[in-house]
Amino acid sequence: MFPFFSYVSFLLLFLLLLPSVPEARTIRAIAPEVATVTRVDVDNYTWSGFQRFLDVQKGSKVDGMSKLKEYLHRFGYLQLNDTNFTDIFDTHFESALTRYQSKLGLPVSGKLDSSTVSQIMVPRCGVSDTPSKLHVRKNYAFFPGQPRWTGLTPMTLTYALSPTDSLSYLDRTDIRNVLQRAFSHWATVIPLSFTESKAYRMADIKVGFYNGDHGDGEPFDGVLGVLGHAFSPQSGRFHLDAAETWAIDLGSEKSRDAVDLESVMTHEIGHVLGLAHSSVQEAVMYPSLSPRTKKVNLRYDDVKGVQALYGSNPNFKMNSLLVSETSNQGFVLSPISNKWVTAILLILCLFRYY
Ligand SMILES: [Zn+2]
Ligand SMILES: [Zn+2]
Repeated sequence: MFPFFSYVSFLLLFLLLLPSVPEARTIRAIAPEVATVTRVDVDNYTWSGFQRFLDVQKGSKVDGMSKLKEYLHRFGYLQLNDTNFTDIFDTHFESALTRYQSKLGLPVSGKLDSSTVSQIMVPRCGVSDTPSKLHVRKNYAFFPGQPRWTGLTPMTLTYALSPTDSLSYLDRTDIRNVLQRAFSHWATVIPLSFTESKAYRMADIKVGFYNGDHGDGEPFDGVLGVLGHAFSPQSGRFHLDAAETWAIDLGSEKSRDAVDLESVMTHEIGHVLGLAHSSVQEAVMYPSLSPRTKKVNLRYDDVKGVQALYGSNPNFKMNSLLVSETSNQGFVLSPISNKWVTAILLILCLFRYY
């Protein structure tokens, strides 16, 4: 018996010490750099005041909490008739927090915990989120009705940078080069091409930088806060907040509030094409982006989403795309399933010895 038990014990120990099965990984066809979402202490001029609501409990009344309700209403989590936006942490507010946490891929607690309050303060896109149902697999999303550009395939869309609504502190040619790169990320994966038009008024996609209220009912809010927004197909309106410190190269732009231009342009083009916000934190279509963060490479989730609308570029190979280690798209054995595998192997071993 001794050799048998020692053998089984050894086998059991070996199995338990085995490292977890690595998540599906690999390959980044589009560009080699790794997209990251960096959590930083954001001195967000628009939303930094929300810090004081950290750990406020349900039932409490705190001056200014109505602003937090307005934030959740603005981004699609609280209906106007849910509450009259009092300063009380009520049940509607708790439900809205839960929906927000689920959509943003945060621990779903319904509380104003640190991860939630921190996330709320991170600068983000002005497009409203489409809350996902709880416990539903989180991934890409479309606008209601799944609008998309239609036409002959392969399709060509024209774009142009506004001749008047641009930035004075960046070279126009540099901005146009960044815009071209941002479009190229999407053109790599779908049978669409984008060409720059000199006729701004005639272009399918019109890009401009605007301050404050700029006539479309979605005013910008100054430094940080909302960074930009774009409209669903086939509007083609693609606006960036001129008040930001836009950076073409984060290495040379030292401002702590600098926002990477290519990252936000790439994100907004996703909206122009018909993608709404994703719950996958590493995805380009995730709604928020910290200052001084570069995130320009489409992830598996972004590619699956846009290809669901337009199909694949024949030259693009999905298996050559790096599947994010944390995009939850890969087949990953959870600790629970690991235990089951161990138990099954152990039973098989016992059968063999009896
Ligand atoms: Zn967005
Ligand atoms: Zn606008």
